[in-house]
Amino acid sequence: MDIERDQKSINSSVTEMPWLSDAIKILNSKTSPRAILFHGKNGLGKFPMAQRLAQNVLCANRSVGGLACDVCKDCNLMNTKNHPDFVILPSDIGEKANVSVLEVRNLTSFVTKTSHRGQSKVVLILNADKIGHQAGNALLKMLEEIHSTTYFVLIAEKLFEVLPTIRSRCQKINVKPPKPELSLRWLGEKSTQNPENIALSLSMAGFTPLNALDLIKNKEFWGYRGQLITAIKKGESLDALVGIAEKMEPNDLGNILLMLAYDILFCQITGVVKYHLDCQNYCELIGKKKSKIILSSWYDSIVTYLKQSGHSVNNRLALEVLFLDSPILN
Ligand SMILES: [Zn+2]
Repeated sequence: MDIERDQKSINSSVTEMPWLSDAIKILNSKTSPRAILFHGKNGLGKFPMAQRLAQNVLCANRSVGGLACDVCKDCNLMNTKNHPDFVILPSDIGEKANVSVLEVRNLTSFVTKTSHRGQSKVVLILNADKIGHQAGNALLKMLEEIHSTTYFVLIAEKLFEVLPTIRSRCQKINVKPPKPELSLRWLGEKSTQNPENIALSLSMAGFTPLNALDLIKNKEFWGYRGQLITAIKKGESLDALVGIAEKMEPNDLGNILLMLAYDILFCQITGVVKYHLDCQNYCELIGKKKSKIILSSWYDSIVTYLKQSGHSVNNRLALEVLFLDSPILN
């Protein structure tokens, strides 16, 4: 989740994301639930949507439909990230950061005291699927005794990794990826790239439009991907492949290879690729030569590599094993 970008565009972004229109209807209803959990893949706009909900709740001049006015003092405080009745946890913002027990305990005074602006208070909790048991138990106590003026908004990528006790206390809203046609149209309005590049960015971003928009601009990603895919198609040596792979972010490399393995398997069954749209012929060719068992086994090796990426003591060795076992070399 690119929180920085999302924070900058709090005001207009939600209404500019047409795939969120169903979820927004719930936010616009005048009686928002006290505890709400947005779940779904990263790159779909859950964070700006949660901020919008908070603003709707805190605005002193809401419309009849419950929408924030965007001009009152509360809205201004929200837009400048200074609203005293709005808290985001964890304070250490990042993709892998999680809420600590101490942070939840420190919330007690915020939740129990009267609000600064005389209205409601909102607690926004990111990465709710990464909250551990201790912090989770402390949070649960608060959710069980929600103060009448406090709202909790939680965000999670994986619903079933949120502690069940917390999950059951929240109204859950599944934020789903839009149909590719809708994403392509939206990306086409935001980018000057040609339709082929836009379509490839969307598929390589796992069909999440916000991540695709970031990826379109990521020259380093496309540079290394281009080198790697060209080397693979040419059937270059282990050393050449590892040499390119070593320069790449392990997560990017793992995902590119995972999508390639998936595409070869998918092509065997359906005759078309899903992710590497510029590798149709290559995937068909390998799919004809290799068995499902070999392909599935390579897929599993890549999943293992991805899990260990960043922890591997010897990345070069891990890469050699990954390519030696692969159907693209043999
Ligand atoms: Zn307002």
